Amino acid sequence: MTSDRCICLGDDCLAAREAIRKAEHIVGLVDESHFIVSILRCVGCGQHFLSLFCERVDWADGDDPQTRVVVPVSADEVQRLKTANVAADENAILEIVANERRFLYHDMPKGAAETLAWKTRTLFIPGHD
Ligand SMILES: [Zn+2]
Repeated sequence: MTSDRCICLGDDCLAAREAIRKAEHIVGLVDESHFIVSILRCVGCGQHFLSLFCERVDWADGDDPQTRVVVPVSADEVQRLKTANVAADENAILEIVANERRFLYHDMPKGAAETLAWKTRTLFIPGHD
């Protein structure tokens, strides 16, 4: 266990989510009504995150299921994400943020318990699977 790791990367998912919620918004890559991609930076340690947010519209009522994936990315990946045309082709994200990654997964399904957990696996784009 490393003790000097910022809470934004810590095993405490709730604390990590709070730190990421307070993170500085660096740039938006996609801003559609139900799909938002942005780059954030932790105010505590400067770690960059790629945030993917998807709201699935089911037209039943206002309580639509939502999924957020927040993946720590390197400064080099931030540069590549900024220059890639992610809005035109969201799969460019998966080419840049490749391989198995640790990311914070927050799933808020309709009428069911939400899931908040760190996962280590190949990144996926919520709502695009
Ligand atoms: Zn941090």
